Amino acid sequence: MNKSRVKILLKNPFKVARLVLLKDVPIFAHIYLTRRCNLRCAKCRVIERQTPELPLSEWKKIMDRMSEWGTAIVTVQGGEAMLREDIYDILDYASKKFSVTFFTNATLLDKEKIDKLIATGINNLGMSLDSLSAAKEAKMGRGSQAVKKVIETMEYMQTLKKKPKVTINMVAVKQNIDEVIDLAKFVNEHDAYFSIAVLESTPGERWWFRNYAPELEFSEKDYPKVEKVFNELIEMKKKGYKISNDTEQLKNAIKYIKGEFPKQCKAAKLFYSVNSDGTFMGCQDIAPIPKRVDEMKSIKEAWQFKSMVEDIKTCPGCYYGCYVSLINLTKKPWKFLFEELTS
Ligand code: SF4
Ligand code: SF4
Repeated sequence: MNKSRVKILLKNPFKVARLVLLKDVPIFAHIYLTRRCNLRCAKCRVIERQTPELPLSEWKKIMDRMSEWGTAIVTVQGGEAMLREDIYDILDYASKKFSVTFFTNATLLDKEKIDKLIATGINNLGMSLDSLSAAKEAKMGRGSQAVKKVIETMEYMQTLKKKPKVTINMVAVKQNIDEVIDLAKFVNEHDAYFSIAVLESTPGERWWFRNYAPELEFSEKDYPKVEKVFNELIEMKKKGYKISNDTEQLKNAIKYIKGEFPKQCKAAKLFYSVNSDGTFMGCQDIAPIPKRVDEMKSIKEAWQFKSMVEDIKTCPGCYYGCYVSLINLTKKPWKFLFEELTS
């Protein structure tokens, strides 16, 4: 059963009711504490956009304002956020206000640091892993240490009684599509959730998260394989495997890869991102506006910035999983909740 997401939603019944009925609560946000990273994943442009970093005292002001806006669920990430020495204090504060997923590439973790992360009260420890082969990971720019570290972390977490949910996040690309099912099973054997995203690769210089990585893109001849893999994940989910994506999301991922999924964007409405200097971003791919989150009484103020409006209007689309889930929740709330409870 995948009850953890429902638990988070039920913890915030008024915000969720308002989200479903009025669709005007920015309930979800990504917090980019840093744009530094020790890896160089081919799919990612985060480190190319270096911006200053804020101390804890400033993050507290920003998180206070986010909470006033109605934000209830956040991811805290980088870059590699473990590069920040004050990461535990920031997560400690964030966990008192929000349901927190902490994303890391795991390469800097050890048992002592994992214990300290758990003590902050985070709800979910998310680690990225695109292959079980260190050589393949290295080819995709992810270095050769991440596999070992992610596995060590999962194994250590299995020995603990009190711990957050653990999720392994894979991005499906041409080079790893044959490995998806094995990786999902491997993750489940380690008592962790498996989550899959699809590659965003778009030419142009405007992006703040996605990169242009044509070598990782699927071609038409990969489509039957993609379809088979995502359909198998749907079957595994029905059988009780811990797969974080909702079924609708998995079905539509096939359409997205084939270029058949319509753009459904709720950036700067249902969700947003906060840059390392505290400035507001409509989403992680859209350039920040020159205003800090704590300088804005309402998220609606962001829409006064024409550059952001234009960026959102002209964006070709995305399939960022958490966004798709939120849209599914607002469109078919009962179906979404039923499936979360029964799969
Ligand atoms: S995807 Fe994550 S781990 Fe990879 S370079 Fe980007 S921030 Fe670093
Ligand atoms: S469609 Fe574009 S602007 Fe909207 S959330 Fe996705 S990447 Fe951001």
